[in-house]
Amino acid sequence: MLRRIYEVAEEYGITVVYVNEAYTSSKCPIHGEVCGSRVKRGLFKCTRLNKVFNADLVGAYNILITPSPRGIGVMGRRPGPGLNPRNGGM
Ligand SMILES: [Zn+2]
Repeated sequence: MLRRIYEVAEEYGITVVYVNEAYTSSKCPIHGEVCGSRVKRGLFKCTRLNKVFNADLVGAYNILITPSPRGIGVMGRRPGPGLNPRNGGM
């Protein structure tokens, strides 16, 4: 499946960046820190805000904002305003 994603992305000129998913759902999507934990299977709770998030979405979001090791920014795009809510964007 990864090979197919790479092939299709290449066809459209999209750079694929592989990100290790380990621990991506244990970091708060709002604060970017480990200020919460999984409270139930599939749920992450930020203890500062007392808010609960779907853990899979938290993981996907954290993968989305993981900078590329090759310095091409997040999601294979050049960094720009609106891509990272932690720096005032979005
Ligand atoms: Zn938090």
